[in-house]
Amino acid sequence: MNVESGQTFIDLRSDTVTLPTLEMRTAMAQAELGDDVYGEDPTVNELERISADIMRKEAAVFVPSGTMGNLAAILAHCGRGDEVILGDLSHTFLYEAGGISALGGVHPRTVPNQEDGTIAQDVISGAVRDDNPHFPITRLICLENTHNRCGGAVLTAEYMSSVGEFAKEKGLKLHLDGARIFNAAVAQSVSAAELARPADSVTFCLSKALCAPVGSVLCGSEQFISKARRARKQLGGGMRQAGVIAAAGIIALQKMIDRLVEDHEKARELALGLSQIEGIRVEKNPPPSNMIFLSITNALGLNASQLAQKLKENGVLVGVVDVNRLRLVMHYWIHNDEISHVIGAVKKAISG
Ligand SMILES: *Cc1c(COP(=O)(O)O)cnc(C)c1O
Repeated sequence: MNVESGQTFIDLRSDTVTLPTLEMRTAMAQAELGDDVYGEDPTVNELERISADIMRKEAAVFVPSGTMGNLAAILAHCGRGDEVILGDLSHTFLYEAGGISALGGVHPRTVPNQEDGTIAQDVISGAVRDDNPHFPITRLICLENTHNRCGGAVLTAEYMSSVGEFAKEKGLKLHLDGARIFNAAVAQSVSAAELARPADSVTFCLSKALCAPVGSVLCGSEQFISKARRARKQLGGGMRQAGVIAAAGIIALQKMIDRLVEDHEKARELALGLSQIEGIRVEKNPPPSNMIFLSITNALGLNASQLAQKLKENGVLVGVVDVNRLRLVMHYWIHNDEISHVIGAVKKAISG
């Protein structure tokens, strides 16, 4: 549910719209605080310790957003003019305002993402530069799990491992944009640590399906995290009594991970209902995690934003991805009994 100028909506635009739970608000009010730039906020320190433990990495740093987590990671791994291999549908390439180039002078080598969110191994291998003064130096590979633009696709531990081994062989680093890594983990019944094990660094978001209001965490080795801390400071991400928000993050990690399976179940139920509507195609059915991507056929005589507008008039907010594509994301605040309302709203929008 979301309230906009007095009207209540079923908000499926993203899982970023999730408001903090009452337990989070209470923890936020009661958090022990200090100056985190001095390393003295006990709540931030605890969040970082828990995060590093969950990912089985040596250390972690709390950052204001997933975008800053990825950027700080890439700045810590790469120097100016270094090249990073990343998917052409990756969040870092598409949706982070070109920060790696604008602020880091890092050269993006985009290679095709496959439908399942992976990048073919031979494509990664072919993108690694030889040692030649004409070429930038390949330094880093980035993967994303779950993969947002690939429909919330889930990358397996085996795939992660094989890319990790390749990176090691070539002396490259591997960064995992795990904004929704816990969705990837519960979808496959593996631990997030197992998915992140082959990566030198991993970012995850507290502010998406886990319902915390703000914040992401970047994890890696001690040495890497101390570099990333400097990058965070350069980017203006050194926060002071950040324990106020970290407190919600701790609850997110303790209470909100296992229940993500419910979001995936709701996504499957909604996808099944929507797939029976003429003129709409559910792109990945059943959906791999908490996202549903829909394509609209021409026969409807509506484009995606017109359909989104009609849905809004029926109390449902959805994301417009393309002229003929919509994204619907399931999350904590969508109740089971709202699924049939959404299906009804789509039918109504299409018929009238
Ligand atoms: C949301 C997201 C991010 C960025 O997170 P923000 O907190 O919105 O900056 C990075 N990567 C992926 C895959 C995401 O979905």
